[in-house]
Amino acid sequence: FLPFILPILLQDQQNNPKGFRMNNQKVGILGGGQLGRMMVEAASRLNLEVIILDAPENAPAKQIEATQSHISGAFNDAAKIRELAGKVDVLTVEIEHVDAQVLADIENEGKVKVHPSASTVKVIQDKFVQKNHLRANGIPVAAYVETPNSNAVLEAGKQFGYPFMLKSKTLAYDGRGNYVVKSEADIKCAMETLSKTPLYAEKWAPFTKELAVMVVRRANGEVRSYPVVETIHKNSVCHLVIAPAQVSGEVLKKAQVIAENAIKTFTGAGIFGVEMFVMKDGEILLNEIAPRPHNSGHYTIEACDTSQYENHMRAILDMPLGSTAMKVPASIMVNILGTSDSMELCYRPCKEALLTDGATIHLYGKKECRAGRKMGHITIVGESMMQVQKRLKPILHAIEPEIE
Ligand code: ATP
Ligand code: MG
Ligand code: MG
Repeated sequence: FLPFILPILLQDQQNNPKGFRMNNQKVGILGGGQLGRMMVEAASRLNLEVIILDAPENAPAKQIEATQSHISGAFNDAAKIRELAGKVDVLTVEIEHVDAQVLADIENEGKVKVHPSASTVKVIQDKFVQKNHLRANGIPVAAYVETPNSNAVLEAGKQFGYPFMLKSKTLAYDGRGNYVVKSEADIKCAMETLSKTPLYAEKWAPFTKELAVMVVRRANGEVRSYPVVETIHKNSVCHLVIAPAQVSGEVLKKAQVIAENAIKTFTGAGIFGVEMFVMKDGEILLNEIAPRPHNSGHYTIEACDTSQYENHMRAILDMPLGSTAMKVPASIMVNILGTSDSMELCYRPCKEALLTDGATIHLYGKKECRAGRKMGHITIVGESMMQVQKRLKPILHAIEPEIE
């Protein structure tokens, strides 16, 4: 038997310099930030081949994958996306603000798979179109209205009352496309601030908590959801993720069902982040969906059987999905954000984490530190939420020494 099989094995070794791979399809990722970097980490354990498209030569995801020649160019540059498509079997995204039309064209040509599907990315990348899609599918969302001009914004104020949220339809992240309109007097400034993209208005959601659920979807429609987590934002940027969310079983169930139902309405494979608001009466509204790994799912690397990144790789390569269950009782993730003055300041909490049981540091390899920029994160796990909170305290103190 061995003399028969050995030449085949050796030939396979020659064809695959990396050795045995879990899947022979090459993956191309549009975007090379921290989400791409953590996808590469997961792919690397399975010996999967990944090529990155992003402008910087030293993008976080490129730094840790030296076996491939990456592409330098914008992830919304049609020619560059085509160049990437020419080198891989499956295209995926780590950011939704990509050229969805060229993805659709590539998908239609049939040679390269696109996951999640181009139409999914297209619907989600425009928050207004995304809201229309969700509402049409019976998913609960806050009231909203299109605001093509200042008159429409004024009308929105009359309809929703103040404050309400004026939102960019496209290219939004970390709250940068949002403006809280507190009175009629704010409208002019709000529209000037958000003048780069078309806008829509959303009724204010006086939530008691924000929740998030990661859902992974196979191309055949199978979905699996991760535990419901609570997200705490600071200046509209994710600060803490508490897993599992400390809310009633009823709210947990409702959030999970809404998240799964929402993801079932899309096509293609991959991981999705579903952000939600819990209202005073326990009602849940879906805020927005990300068609990619999400900040609220970083904790899955240390706290779940299979990380969001590995399950994304499994999903887009049509491999069996891994368990999404937590393997520890409790976990909290804290983001390391850049400060305006020095890199040193953002590493202070990391130094504290080195002294903390159950803490894992992730730094993204970003060369420049800017205020509010996501530089890394720390995940803490433990035997109980109380223990995790206790372990977190000195790390939080290193981030904000002024808060006791
Ligand atoms: P992300 O970085 O998550 O992509 P984003 O820029 O797309 O953020 P949103 O998720 O729309 O922005 O909003 C950011 C935050 O602003 C939300 O997490 C929530 O705290 C708050 N927010 C958004 N919409 C509303 C609303 N209608 N009412 C009250 N608060 C809101
Ligand atoms: Mg968003
Ligand atoms: Mg959001």
